[in-house]
Amino acid sequence: MAITISPLPLGALTHLVNGWGTRPRQEGGRTQEPLPSVDTLTDLGLPDDVRNGLTGQALVAAADALHPVFAATDAATCARRLTRLLSTGGTRPVLDAVDDDRLDAVWSVGSADRALVAAAALALRQYLGEQGFARVGVCTGGRCADVYVDQSPGGRRRFCSVTCQNRARVAAFRSRKAATAAE
Ligand SMILES: [Zn+2]
Repeated sequence: MAITISPLPLGALTHLVNGWGTRPRQEGGRTQEPLPSVDTLTDLGLPDDVRNGLTGQALVAAADALHPVFAATDAATCARRLTRLLSTGGTRPVLDAVDDDRLDAVWSVGSADRALVAAAALALRQYLGEQGFARVGVCTGGRCADVYVDQSPGGRRRFCSVTCQNRARVAAFRSRKAATAAE
């Protein structure tokens, strides 16, 4: 049965990839921790029955499918990876009749198990199409592979969080100090 979807909110998208993704969990040393509760994924914009049917395993699979889009090091690779996600998921533009004279231009996928990745891919397609490739990425902090979506006015974000940014700043300061002391 076809399922109507809309783009996933960007906050939910990064929470999904960082909370359930294998690489972010490994690099961040969180593999021993339990997976986050599915209830922390609010506001997915998915139909209730699809939302309620999401398992931990499905969330890990979705996160792992999406992480390579963020990890792409050039625009062409990023575009190719995202396009593949959209086409293998069977995402289609459709028109829904809401009532006698109102129509909704929406997206559709063929099955419930494809809905989450498709909704996430739609959000990335829309955002990257408007903002450019440099607006998503993987944190450049040490021992961190969390992803970010840069919504800052300057567009120069390189870290997933203030915590990683501060840690990198302290490390850079220490290594400068050590280099000065060694001179
Ligand atoms: Zn980080």
